[in-house]
Amino acid sequence: MSQSAARHRIVIVGGGAAGIELATALGDSLGRRGKADVTLIDRMRTHVWKPKLHEIAAGSMDMSAHEVDYLAQSHWHHFRYRVGAMTGLDRERREVHVAPYIDDEGQEVTPQRAFGYDTLVIAIGSQSNDFGTPGVSEHAMKLETPADAQRFHARIVNACVRAHSQSAPLRPEQLHVAIIGAGATGVELAAELHRTTREMVAYGLDRVDADKDIKVSVIEAAPRVLPALPERLSEATEKLLRELGVEVHINAKVAEVQAGGVKLADGRLLPAGLIVWAAGVKAPDLLKDIAGLETNRINQLVVRQTLQTTRDDDIFAIGDCAACPWPQANGGKGGFVPPRAQAAHQQASHVTAQIKRRLAGKPLKDYRYRDFGSLVSLGEYSTVGNMMGGLIGGSLLIEGLFARMMYLSLYKMHELALHGSAKVALDTLARLIVRRTEPHVKLH
Ligand SMILES: Cc1cc2nc3c(=O)[nH]c(=O)nc-3n(C[C@H](O)[C@H](O)[C@H](O)COP(=O)(O)OP(=O)(O)OC[C@H]3O[C@@H](n4cnc5c(N)ncnc54)[C@H](O)[C@@H]3O)c2cc1C
Repeated sequence: MSQSAARHRIVIVGGGAAGIELATALGDSLGRRGKADVTLIDRMRTHVWKPKLHEIAAGSMDMSAHEVDYLAQSHWHHFRYRVGAMTGLDRERREVHVAPYIDDEGQEVTPQRAFGYDTLVIAIGSQSNDFGTPGVSEHAMKLETPADAQRFHARIVNACVRAHSQSAPLRPEQLHVAIIGAGATGVELAAELHRTTREMVAYGLDRVDADKDIKVSVIEAAPRVLPALPERLSEATEKLLRELGVEVHINAKVAEVQAGGVKLADGRLLPAGLIVWAAGVKAPDLLKDIAGLETNRINQLVVRQTLQTTRDDDIFAIGDCAACPWPQANGGKGGFVPPRAQAAHQQASHVTAQIKRRLAGKPLKDYRYRDFGSLVSLGEYSTVGNMMGGLIGGSLLIEGLFARMMYLSLYKMHELALHGSAKVALDTLARLIVRRTEPHVKLH
């Protein structure tokens, strides 16, 4: 048996907020010292931190400055990267099945493959859940991948350029964007779009009157925006959105999405040329009852406090695709850990330590979600949030510069986990310099 074949095989599927941090940490420790073979499988070639997608969509972030190439990351951090989408799992043979990878021209790059594992970590995230609402797949855009965000951005730029150059009067819905779902994604996108569309128009599209022609609306079925967050936060956010001129529809259940607008359950039709579905998430359908593992009604893999799946000690699940109990005894609400970047980050750190304990024959420790609060970035207008924790004894509403710094620190923590402090400091400096010399909004 070769030395490599004898090593413990750790396979991580999904290199998102959770998976790429885990692969990097395990590669830097076990991989570098030859204690285990660490393999990361992702259907994409590059990683972009998902909470940045609304900034790419609105045009306020240049994606290339924030993309991490999986192959390069694997080289520098002592793990293997293999491209392809997981399609199935054989628990008896301990193999993950991966589809062929096909390039943009339809050519097969890698064939269908199977990867053997001793420890498997599934971290394939979540996708939006349209709850079977008619017309969503045909007429609404989603913000699930960088490609979705870029497509949305191209559509909004083209819509403004078209409006500027057409001689006929604008149709009522032509520059109206309807965002369905006023969770963090929906309201962040609304605020960011409000600013970037105005900046775009200011770059010479002077036949468009931003205040009159461009309209952004958010549509929410619940009685308030940010329904999962504390009420004071919702009030502050709704006030700010309304002050900006964003139309806020609450208690508005969507019955159907049509080509030129959104039909509500009460019969109203809200005209919109661009419609974004940002309401609700579920784990990928592929996971539903996969290989006899326990899953819940939104396809998440049910895990124990150790983050191992309930029916297989060799399989862990982390991030949005895991249903991890959040018991009241641990400061939770009795349900499951919410699908957030901070949970993905914490779970990646926890599983890194647990895999090392497993290899050392030690018992695993329980994961405990620490809720540091929630932060919502309203572009350059404001950041609002609440801070949680023992130190302040409950929940504290924060706003403005302090909240902005806390919000930015979440991404910095992710960057630090991937690149270390020296590179992050240099990159931050370089971005600040470039930001001074380039337009603040992407125009293509
Ligand atoms: C627009 C937007 C804004 C957000 N803002 C915030 C925020 O401000 N704060 C916050 O805490 N959270 C936010 N979130 C949620 C946060 O992004 C997620 O909770 C977090 O990314 C989950 O991490 P993950 O690793 O589980 O999944 P992801 O980061 O989604 O990564 C999943 C990875 O799996 C890969 N993958 C998927 N299917 C397969 C397959 N079959 N085979 C191989 N690979 C696969 C994907 O390519 C991806 O790389 C936001 C989400 C969105 C969409």
